[in-house]
Amino acid sequence: MSLKKNILDFTKEELEKEITPKFRVKQIFNWIYQKYIFDFEKMSNLPKNLREDLKNSFSIDIPKIVNKETSKDGSIKYLFSLKDLHTVEAVLLPMKKEEYDENGKLLQHARYTICVSSQVGCKVGCSFCLTAKGGFSRDLTPGEIVGQVLAIKVDKNIEANRRVNIVYMGMGEPLDNLDNVSKAIRIFSDENGLSIGPRRQTISTSGLAPKIKKLGDMNLGVLLAISLHAVDDKLREELMPINKAYNIETVIKAVKEFPIDQRKRVMFEYLIIKDLNDDIKSAKKLVKLLNGIKSKVNLILFNPYPGSPYKRPEIEKVKNFQKYLLDHGVLCTIRESKGLDISAACGQLKEKNLQS
Ligand code: SAH
Ligand code: SF4
Repeated sequence: MSLKKNILDFTKEELEKEITPKFRVKQIFNWIYQKYIFDFEKMSNLPKNLREDLKNSFSIDIPKIVNKETSKDGSIKYLFSLKDLHTVEAVLLPMKKEEYDENGKLLQHARYTICVSSQVGCKVGCSFCLTAKGGFSRDLTPGEIVGQVLAIKVDKNIEANRRVNIVYMGMGEPLDNLDNVSKAIRIFSDENGLSIGPRRQTISTSGLAPKIKKLGDMNLGVLLAISLHAVDDKLREELMPINKAYNIETVIKAVKEFPIDQRKRVMFEYLIIKDLNDDIKSAKKLVKLLNGIKSKVNLILFNPYPGSPYKRPEIEKVKNFQKYLLDHGVLCTIRESKGLDISAACGQLKEKNLQS
């Protein structure tokens, strides 16, 4: 095993303690995150002895792409291999296409969302989730989280200054790996690096209430998404065993105390499963539950996989559910499974407002 440290694991402030003078760290960040140069030797504005020192102490470990599947809708699922050969997935979701005017002048650049993994597997064990089936192996390091985005940007030739959003909706429970995830949030945000600000990063959680509080106390400015999926504790326990530890009321309380930008909303993900939680009675309860929270609901159609115990709901029912929420003043979109044809296991689904 190499004793070299992966430089992607470090925030700029941490590196500044190891590398002097400080401005060299900015230059290194610039090479890696904005010029996509992953060889210290090629960092031509660094003195030779520093390059030598860096080479001896650090590596630049970019996750290796071992598989890539493109969906008809344009989303791309990546399978990455890590240094210890564990694999994780990430998904690139084109949110907006490039737009040109009639003279061929570029009006708007393409926009992307990247869905990243935070752990190899997951401990939470939700009954509908494919990630849970494989059990839990380990946490990802900050550099392995950041590296997924870097690898995708390089692979798709996405320029450094293109707007990218991050959602922590891949494999794993991000709040179960809060130390490393919070560091990744900081590294992503660095203006000398990828420059993806906290308001463009959404943490999705199954509802680890004490960790929601801890994340809030960190005041990072990230957005929060709660995987709610059910409005009564009995069903939620069945779907998400974590509900035994932190029930719906506890989660809602944690959300109400979470600091959020006044202009932003907490997202509630509601996975609709045929005949389980797709009825108007549930919609009614949901409206009640969200009373007093600046929220938006994302209805996710359950994405069946071979051997899954649940079924995909009928779209008519989903639309009725949405209509009920909208009629009662709750913002609500329907997310169509992105990449159904590429078996997007990570469950990340593109927002598509079927209303429009
Ligand atoms: N562990 C975190 C983040 C990863 S899961 C969480 O649970 O929030 C990201 C989203 O994908 C969650 O809302 C999850 O409920 C959803 N998901 C998992 N399996 C799915 C499936 N088979 N079909 C649709 N969505 C799924
Ligand atoms: Fe883990 Fe999220 Fe899957 Fe539940 S839905 S098992 S919390 S990844």
